[in-house]
Amino acid sequence: MAPHRDPELSRRALLALGAGLLAAACSGDDEAAPDDTAPAGSSPRPSSPPTSPAPATAAPTTAAPTTAPLPADPFRLGVASGDPDATSVVLWTRLVGTELPDTIDVTWELAADDNFAEPLATGTVTASAAHGHSVHVVVELDGPVAYRFHAGGHTSRVGHAAPATARSSLKLAAASCQHWETGFYTAHRDLAAWRPDAVVFLGDFIYEGAAQPVGDDRVRAHDGPEPTDLTGYRARYALYLSDPDLQAARAACPWFPIWDDHEVENNYAGLVPQDPAEADAFPARRLAAYQAWWEHMPVRIERPEAGRPTVVHRAARYGDLVDLVLLDGRQHRSDQACGDVTLSTDPPCPEALDPARTMLGPEQEQWVADTLAASGATWVALAQQTVLTDLRLPNGAILNFDQWDGYAPARERLLAAAAPVARRLVVLTGDIHLAGVGHLPGIGTEFVTTSVSSRGLVPAELEPLVASLEHIVAAELRHRGYVRHTVTPSSWTAEYRIVADVHDPDSAVSTWRTFTLQAGASDAVA
Ligand code: FE
Ligand code: CA
Repeated sequence: MAPHRDPELSRRALLALGAGLLAAACSGDDEAAPDDTAPAGSSPRPSSPPTSPAPATAAPTTAAPTTAPLPADPFRLGVASGDPDATSVVLWTRLVGTELPDTIDVTWELAADDNFAEPLATGTVTASAAHGHSVHVVVELDGPVAYRFHAGGHTSRVGHAAPATARSSLKLAAASCQHWETGFYTAHRDLAAWRPDAVVFLGDFIYEGAAQPVGDDRVRAHDGPEPTDLTGYRARYALYLSDPDLQAARAACPWFPIWDDHEVENNYAGLVPQDPAEADAFPARRLAAYQAWWEHMPVRIERPEAGRPTVVHRAARYGDLVDLVLLDGRQHRSDQACGDVTLSTDPPCPEALDPARTMLGPEQEQWVADTLAASGATWVALAQQTVLTDLRLPNGAILNFDQWDGYAPARERLLAAAAPVARRLVVLTGDIHLAGVGHLPGIGTEFVTTSVSSRGLVPAELEPLVASLEHIVAAELRHRGYVRHTVTPSSWTAEYRIVADVHDPDSAVSTWRTFTLQAGASDAVA
């Protein structure tokens, strides 16, 4: 590659290539698909010539490595992109290995094609041990790109990214809950093959449990004891990211990750750990877990630091088609009420109905209200952790106090804040390890994705009971999978993919059911 590139020359070369090579922005592998042969001039973004110069982060510079050779490939955790806006995206990688110096220069490259025959921009950033040698670099782009990294004489795999811009159809995959031990990531392989435009990951990216013996439904083992510090959490992420199907899904297109509980500890709430005896040590543990999450996610947020909240809630926009609103339902919530019992059929204790209890915390509640009130998009997608649909029994019994049912007054406040986007709202939910569709009367529809690989929480025999709840449209408790959402100006379609046998690495994946919403009537699912 030339050491200095003229951005305008690159721009013209890019346009000359046309849409053919560009359409591969989100392929699940590193090969262009057979249909990636559209003639030049059919670019999906012909009306958006660049109006600003290359950003500082994309300043032309040398691509030559500036560090000593490394004996082993440092890019074994793959690459990712995330949090795109209309003109930029975060590129991520994290270098690993025993020979890494304290700081190391990492060169990134953008190109119009997977062979990097036509590079668009390049730059160098410094990865440091203090941040786990992770790289988060914001690069500007005005269409689909391929990207990769170089360091120490090694080159990463190729990833694909694209800006969040208006389009006539958006393919959005939703996934959550990928326990390493209880299944293979066949769902991720299927997800990548779908070639989505973006992935919303709803949390439980890792599970914090100690290694258990392989057997029964455990097909592979964690790498050690339960993590409680930064070293332990980093090792757990590195284990999960060693999976080739997960790496392929992360490289395929931009992700919008949010976290749930297991990125720290099962069912923690704010600064309240599951075991009260661990309360004194929990703030430091939670901060270590938050830092490890940040180090491994392609997110555009401030690095977690002691003494301030880590702001994970944020929004993204695909033109006027969809506003994506991402929530954090763990960091600021009140402790679960009534002892956090599950599947109780008795009326709840009074604590559950205390309006002082919160799921989002006051600042995030205000932010989401302001964000929803300002939205003019055809669709608003609220990506969050726990089930929002009212699942309470007729006597008020709460089956699971960790879900929004256990925070009913806070739910009322959120639904009131959603009034400005009534019948435009789609809620994307994870956490509960079952596939479900919920009805939010007059407001919208909730699509709950089942887990990628984590075992079911609600016994499969209860499927008829769950499906019979007043506001549940449909439920499937027996399979793992994810959801393919296709969003257009006139409809929102949710195709539920299920893995026949998550313990078989070559399992078939099929469609359980497909649900459709019409624009302006998102509370009428069919
Ligand atoms: Fe989970
Ligand atoms: Ca969870």
